[in-house]
Amino acid sequence: MSAALIDGRAAADALRRQLAIHADFFRASTGRPAGLATVLVGEDPASAVYVRSKIKATEEAGMHGVHRPLPADTSEAELLALVVELNRDPGIDGILVQLPLPAQIDAARVIDSIDPGKDVDGFHVVNSGRLAIGDPTALVPCTPLGCLHLLKEQLGSLSGAEAVVIGRSNIVGKPMAALLLGESCTVTIAHSRTRDLAEVCRRADILVAAVGRPEMVRGDWIKPGATVIDVGINRVPGAEPGKSRIVGDVAFAEAREMAGAITPVPGGVGPMTIAMLLRNTLVAAHRRAGLALPKGL
Ligand code: NAD
Repeated sequence: MSAALIDGRAAADALRRQLAIHADFFRASTGRPAGLATVLVGEDPASAVYVRSKIKATEEAGMHGVHRPLPADTSEAELLALVVELNRDPGIDGILVQLPLPAQIDAARVIDSIDPGKDVDGFHVVNSGRLAIGDPTALVPCTPLGCLHLLKEQLGSLSGAEAVVIGRSNIVGKPMAALLLGESCTVTIAHSRTRDLAEVCRRADILVAAVGRPEMVRGDWIKPGATVIDVGINRVPGAEPGKSRIVGDVAFAEAREMAGAITPVPGGVGPMTIAMLLRNTLVAAHRRAGLALPKGL
């Protein structure tokens, strides 16, 4: 059997087209575009690429993107002052501080300083708490939200499914598990101390790998017909000397022979993350403006 490919690019494009319609509606209703502020401290090349694509996607969706770059030697106090300014700015609905931050800045303190209503990354403890208690007003981290969207498109109802999430980070693993629990899955969170990981994975109808280890999940760890979501982004040496390529946490070719459906890397979860950032910004904008959320947002 060869698994169906879950096309994250196509799903993200469709979602972004829909979000552009909601963004137009928001602008027409309020007289201003929804606004997303991105903050980048320093010049880490990977972070700069991520932020550039977030700004581009924001503008393409008909929203207002404000970019606030800061030098690498910015102090924590200076960054906190900028967050306070953005919290107060009525034209800004979402604030994204690109991680990682330089060593002199405590990332947790910065995240805690963001207005939870503008926390479009969903990392603030208020939003994590809301997600944990199943409060639908939580702003949820973009990557797991994107994974859930793909799963629901593929499977419809997830109720009663055995779900295994590998990874327990606050950014992916834990919120992913909370979302799956919210969909009435039976959820197991596996991690670096899990005994017999392969056996745990073999019982999963839904397997989400968010580890950061290239091709760790082998084909014989997959229950036949399972749906596999590969969050991992790992750079490995390419076929030609000096070249590299990106692989996921799942050994794709092997897993494809066992799974019912699987996300490729690249082109699976990755594109969904930015689409969900736009979605969270629009949700935050509607709430701040006191507008009901349109259907499908
Ligand atoms: P992290 O390093 O914070 O967490 C990794 C988790 O994997 C940990 O909880 C750890 O317990 C677990 N782990 C490590 N080794 C393990 C092992 N041998 N067996 C089982 N579990 C093990 O990473 P993260 O931020 O959660 O990201 C995970 C992966 O997802 C990375 O490859 C990252 O690049 C990728 N990622 C992708 C996107 C996207 O947009 N597609 C977004 C965020 C993260």
